[in-house]
Amino acid sequence: MSVEKITLEDPLDMHCHWRQGAMLNKMVPLSAKIFAGAMGMPNTNPPIFSLEDILEYKRAVEAAIHFEDNFQPYYTAYFQPNMSKEYLKAIKPHILSIKFYPKGKTHNSEYGCSPHDPGVLESLSNMEELEIPASVHGEADGFCMRREYLFGSIYEQWATMFPKLKIIMEHISDRRTLQLLVKFPNIFATVTPQHALFNLDAVLGGKLNPHMFWMPILKEPEDQEAILNAIMGINGLACVKHKLMLGTDSAPHPVDQKECACGCAGVFNASITLQLLAKPFFDSGKVEQYKMFTSGNAKEIYGITPPKKTVVLERVPSVVPDRVGVTVVPMLAGHTLEWSITEIRA
Ligand SMILES: [Zn+2]
Repeated sequence: MSVEKITLEDPLDMHCHWRQGAMLNKMVPLSAKIFAGAMGMPNTNPPIFSLEDILEYKRAVEAAIHFEDNFQPYYTAYFQPNMSKEYLKAIKPHILSIKFYPKGKTHNSEYGCSPHDPGVLESLSNMEELEIPASVHGEADGFCMRREYLFGSIYEQWATMFPKLKIIMEHISDRRTLQLLVKFPNIFATVTPQHALFNLDAVLGGKLNPHMFWMPILKEPEDQEAILNAIMGINGLACVKHKLMLGTDSAPHPVDQKECACGCAGVFNASITLQLLAKPFFDSGKVEQYKMFTSGNAKEIYGITPPKKTVVLERVPSVVPDRVGVTVVPMLAGHTLEWSITEIRA
């Protein structure tokens, strides 16, 4: 019997964190090895706030790419109120989107703002005019399990006020958020493997597991199922399947910042995501949709043409390493995955 196989062309990770310094030098080559392109988030310390910051970050990322990997990095800038058209015109050639962080809701978001701050609407209006998409970490104040839902009214307000602004709801985690994709033509979303495959039990259902702790936090089984169905385009959600893109939200922290009393949110997962999601798509007979979710949809939504890269996945077991580099524990460390990457042609 021949091995079951999926061949992906130009897979893209539209949301990841490479960090800075030594961590960046470790993370960029891992993205570059298996993806044709990936979009790095701007919540560095300090954040990417200016044209100079973007150019400096670009230099650091590009210096870390191995030429033979044939990889296109994409960049973002950190949202600020009152961004002028002059500033936006200057940065536009270097970025794909601008990332909105609600103040204090995730890693390095203390530089973010409230959606109600003066100057937020002016920035969004200028972005709409200059056709720069808004990537949004959509969480409002309130109980952690309801924060994304509570941000829904902000998404509705922005999508209505700025109908030509592409709004990307990053790493959606709540089944109610999916309805915004149905309702507004200018709303899109990224989905992580963790929100499509796991629920809060993975963090709290047995021993406390800091390596399954992200923001937005994992939610109920019904949320996970609805998100998985949406990316596969089944169970009444086929109408939004072209609006969903893979964004791993791979977010490494050194192990001492995870396994401590105040564990940081975010886990490295870029190297296992394609293998992990191969199973549900293949088993549901949705391989064509897997190709759209991991590449075609992002190309269409962002209007990008990444370099050519073919990634072959086969149903052959692979074990997730205990460590990536010296300090990073990857998601599902030590677990056996049903699928492996068996060939990459760049
Ligand atoms: Zn993120």
